[in-house]
Amino acid sequence: MDTMEQLRQECSDCRLCRLCETRTNLVFGVGNEHSDIVFVGEGPGEKEDLQGIPFVGPAGQLLDVMLKLIGLKREDVYICNIVKCRPPQNRDPAPEEREACSVWLKRQIACIDPKIIVCLGRISATSLISPSFRITREHGQWYEIEGRRVIATYHPSALLRDVSKRPEAFADFREIRTAMRSLGHVLDPLALTSDNTQKDKENSL
Ligand code: SF4
Repeated sequence: MDTMEQLRQECSDCRLCRLCETRTNLVFGVGNEHSDIVFVGEGPGEKEDLQGIPFVGPAGQLLDVMLKLIGLKREDVYICNIVKCRPPQNRDPAPEEREACSVWLKRQIACIDPKIIVCLGRISATSLISPSFRITREHGQWYEIEGRRVIATYHPSALLRDVSKRPEAFADFREIRTAMRSLGHVLDPLALTSDNTQKDKENSL
């Protein structure tokens, strides 16, 4: 079994697909390597490519807020992407790029052995749940895949573009909170208090 550090080093010079030609930094993943939960986004954007860290731009800040609202911190979870190198102009990663990079994601997941995987957005859900996955219709539903519970929600970038989707996304995060609690995690009870406070927080997302 790989350690995450071995895996990171092995991946660091990956040239399995053409995205290696345009990356500034490979963006491997970050967070708690022993977490019960892994969040999988699509691919690095401009800021992530420059810093080598996933979800550091505005979408990452929104993800941090959503985690906080269910009593989680970035350090509690592991965060990575379907592809580790930035697609030029932030285009969708091509099927062959996703396929090439899946070898790394599979080994990351095997190394962490999480109970829950959260797909952030369509690209992640169609890669990990089903090629025909419809994020607008099927987000928030649980799937059992290779012994793990898998759920999809909107990508934070989509929530930045369309704030009307935020209440649906927050409902998905409540599902995630319930699942984490069922695993015995005591999530910060102050994160969610009264209904009014809850509404204020959801509106502030
Ligand atoms: S995107 Fe993945 S498969 Fe392609 S070069 Fe980067 S690490 Fe390798």
